Amino acid sequence: MPPPIDITRFEHLKTAGDLPSPKGVALAIIRLTRKDDLSLAELARVIKTDPAFVGRLIKAANSAAMGARRPVASVQEALMVLGLPAVRNMALGFSLLSNYRNGGCANFDYERYWSGALLMALAAQAIGQRVHCAAADEMFCLGLLSRVGELALATLHPKQYSDVLAEAAAPGGDLVACEQRAFAMHHRELTAVMLADWGLPKLFYEPAAHFEMPDDAPFAEDSRAIQIVAALSLADAIRAICLAAPDARPALTDDMYQRGQSLSLDPDGLNALSDQVVEEWGEWGRLLRVATQPVPPLASVAAAGTPVVVGALRADPRDGVAAEEAPVIARPKGASSMRVLVVDDNAEVRTSLRGLLERAGHLVFESDNGRHGMELALEVQPQMMLVDAHMPEMSGLDLTRALRQTRIGRTIYILLLTSLEDEERLIEAFENGVDDFVTKPIRPRVLAARLRAGHRVIRLQQEVEHEREEIRRFAAELAVTNRRLHEVALTDQLTGFPNRRYAIERIAQEWAGATRSRRPLSCMVIDIDEFKQINDTYGHDAGDMVLRQASVALKHGLRSQDVVARTGGDEFLVLCPDTDLSAALRCAERLRQAVHAAKVVAGNVKLRVSISVGVAQRDRSMGDADAMIKRADQGAYVAKAQGRNRVASVQLSAVDSSGAVSQKTQILPMSGSQVALQPTAKVKDRSTEHR
Ligand code: GH3
Ligand code: MG
Repeated sequence: MPPPIDITRFEHLKTAGDLPSPKGVALAIIRLTRKDDLSLAELARVIKTDPAFVGRLIKAANSAAMGARRPVASVQEALMVLGLPAVRNMALGFSLLSNYRNGGCANFDYERYWSGALLMALAAQAIGQRVHCAAADEMFCLGLLSRVGELALATLHPKQYSDVLAEAAAPGGDLVACEQRAFAMHHRELTAVMLADWGLPKLFYEPAAHFEMPDDAPFAEDSRAIQIVAALSLADAIRAICLAAPDARPALTDDMYQRGQSLSLDPDGLNALSDQVVEEWGEWGRLLRVATQPVPPLASVAAAGTPVVVGALRADPRDGVAAEEAPVIARPKGASSMRVLVVDDNAEVRTSLRGLLERAGHLVFESDNGRHGMELALEVQPQMMLVDAHMPEMSGLDLTRALRQTRIGRTIYILLLTSLEDEERLIEAFENGVDDFVTKPIRPRVLAARLRAGHRVIRLQQEVEHEREEIRRFAAELAVTNRRLHEVALTDQLTGFPNRRYAIERIAQEWAGATRSRRPLSCMVIDIDEFKQINDTYGHDAGDMVLRQASVALKHGLRSQDVVARTGGDEFLVLCPDTDLSAALRCAERLRQAVHAAKVVAGNVKLRVSISVGVAQRDRSMGDADAMIKRADQGAYVAKAQGRNRVASVQLSAVDSSGAVSQKTQILPMSGSQVALQPTAKVKDRSTEHR
């Protein structure tokens, strides 16, 4: 189970590194949706400035999953159908997809990552629609971002994460363990904090941290959170099948059916659902330029149990086409090659330029109009663009101006193809952000010379970027070191439990949370009985072993929401959020029994160890968290006084006519007189002994 989400650590990360984040229009959409007085018309106006997003939004609104009666054709209608949260999260997901399509982490397969993310999105959406654990379109967004922590680690630490991925891919490698070792955090935890930071509800970001290990998820059996975990886990199984090589798929189907069972989905229903997901994957893949691959009907994959020949089973003519149609965003073949985008409405010019550029070793993309050229530029992020000055609809200058407004477009080297001889017009072109120009008809030798000049500028730019990257990497490494130091400073080395410092920070947070939400909060002070004697009789090392084994028994006896810390030599503090006194007493009694039942081995002797536990619940008489701990401490003192191996709580019960406060003491296990009324003065405050 990942550690509790620690926002302070995340804040360090945000300031130190370069976390993936939404940009441009998406950022504007997200900001707008946070405004209380948002008007849909205003939102639609912003959305319309991003043609690519408009297309995706309308597709989402029309998706079969939405069950719209008649096709949605306008942005306003799409907004009404989808609702603000889904639109906002879609803007977020698609923006990340456009801006983090590739990057510098060598072993991180960006294309496969996004291909899988899209599968997760579509599968989560389809499952959400069947089991009604959350709105289908919100499940789409959650699915799309469900592993964003991996992308974040690849972005923050490209070099180191590449090594981590190689280490985890070796036999027996465990990605989460390798990540934790390298960065003092892992992608599951990071995904959850990022989703929380982006404002997704707790109901979504908590399951995102757990769906990869659904059996360890700390949610109640019939809660919505556990259903979302099960839905994401099933979506993950569908993702694995679709991304696998054809001959590896049959072996994966059983796992999918098993996960389906926990949501009462039978194999036939699951086959149909997966086939629908595969079909939509192809469609969305084309729209988002994400690579997909053909997957035969799931029923035949499962029935085969042996390798399936894709070609022989192809039922849908679209199978097999998707992979070819979806453009592969390849990296430059050699160090000197560039991604070049040619935008010209004249097909002949495009063809001849493509020939010239490809012969020079560059990777060429083409577009026949300014609007599409803009979209393609943001998607493929070319280093250089050759743009025709005269095109219908959107001229080369308009396109340049629009590109210079975007983060990606700012750095592209833009060469204008023009027949302009007029000096004034050329000056205007430069003022609008053009880097250079070539006059038509294009003479290959002149073009080659211009390309060389442009290439030189791009290389220099890359060097600057590389240096900036180094600085960023250094900052990110520093952040890891700081995180590790922070973790060490808050951890008890002997038991691995959080230490006293952590407990003090945490109890203040829990206290504030309980005050805000008016939920109960309890705590326990636990002290090992006669521990000094164990040290004196068997030695300090044996004492350490007892401490370690007692802490294991405590950990196993606690509920997932409880927080345990070692606060002193043989003393522990347990915080029980959302727990009243009687539940905390029951939990404490279970702990007492667990420790007493454990056979503790110290060197070559077996010992029976016991604990005394004081329990207290936050009440109105307590000014702060310290007062609650003091009260629990009093309970521990009573438990010791009553013969040890006991659980006790001291509660204020009444004030008599003289103003003296009476206290009610409750002791477990029950024996003789269970409840005793004692004057305050008789209860000694153990806290003064220890602190
Ligand atoms: P009581 O039942 O009243 O709690 O008696 P006790 O003997 O347990 O008394 P107390 O809780 O005061 O004793 C704590 C002892 O724990 C004192 C100290 O020598 C020992 N101690 C503190 N830290 C460590 C440690 O890290 N390892 C070991 N082995 N002993 C420790
Ligand atoms: Mg003790």
